Amino acid sequence: MATIGFIGLGNMGAPMAANLVKAGHQVTGFDLVSKAVAALAAKGGRAATSAAEPAGAGDIVITMLPAGPQVRSVYLDEGGLLANARRDALLIDCSTIDVETARAVAAAAKEAGFDMLDAPVSGGVAGAEAASLTFMVGGEAEVFARAQPILAAMGRTIVHAGPAGNGQAAKICNNMILGISMIAVCEAFSLAERLGLKAQTLFDISSKSSGQCWALTSYCPVPGPVPASPANRDYAPGFTASMMLKDLRLAQQAAGATATVTPLGAAAANFYQLFVDEGAGGLDFSGIYRLIRKPQSKI
Ligand code: NAD
Repeated sequence: MATIGFIGLGNMGAPMAANLVKAGHQVTGFDLVSKAVAALAAKGGRAATSAAEPAGAGDIVITMLPAGPQVRSVYLDEGGLLANARRDALLIDCSTIDVETARAVAAAAKEAGFDMLDAPVSGGVAGAEAASLTFMVGGEAEVFARAQPILAAMGRTIVHAGPAGNGQAAKICNNMILGISMIAVCEAFSLAERLGLKAQTLFDISSKSSGQCWALTSYCPVPGPVPASPANRDYAPGFTASMMLKDLRLAQQAAGATATVTPLGAAAANFYQLFVDEGAGGLDFSGIYRLIRKPQSKI
């Protein structure tokens, strides 16, 4: 059993912390929202009233926060992790944030004498609840080995992606593929409709042809062909368009910083921005099909 501090008990952090409790670990949790802390305590965790408390309480401290600024603040502020964690504690940030912040915080942690990993996840809230997340991990190999049994209580696939920041790099590269391919699939279904080709027929052909991809076969944006996809429940998420926009923006930020040419990544980011600006940020990201089919449909 490990003692674990957990900071950020939101949609993802709450079920992840609950799975650590289920696995027999002693988990002390903190969130700015006191209801979230109470919910963890009701499941057998311990409630903390500041970030310093779980920081000092854990062999391992895990953070699951919204974005880079919150991660910087929780790690680097006076009352934060680097100032309050035990020197032998292992720090794991599971938030999805920009590569630059991930590397800067990891460098500050190293300088202060800590082992740290960036370990963003994919699999969404359902994966967090089922302890079937995929972890993409950046940091030193020995530190990765130390973290593996803990991550295994929250996820099924745990991949070492290389040095600090590479977990975030893997996450945004993967989601850039997904954002672009979802739009491509939506455009194909829209064109098929106008050409008088049934959605099911296109699906039957493309799912066995060179157009095959995850956005088509697992997450089909058109109702019907894949019964479990969000298209069949009015695009209830799933993975929201706002989250996809966040990840596409992070990819664009990284592309800018490295002078990488990503015209389709840029177009996908702009397209999701338009969708979110029209008030659809809370819909599943596959709902962008509605924007592509405009003006026939309303978002
Ligand atoms: P969320 O907004 O539900 O949870 C974030 C939590 O952090 C909130 O409860 C908030 O109160 C807390 N918080 C913010 N600042 C804090 C601080 N200074 N101290 C303590 N707590 C603080 O977000 P989420 O959906 O749980 O996502 C968390 C991270 O995981 C994000 O980076 C997101 O991009 C990533 N992610 C989310 C999903 C998903 O499907 N929700 C999937 C993969 C990755």
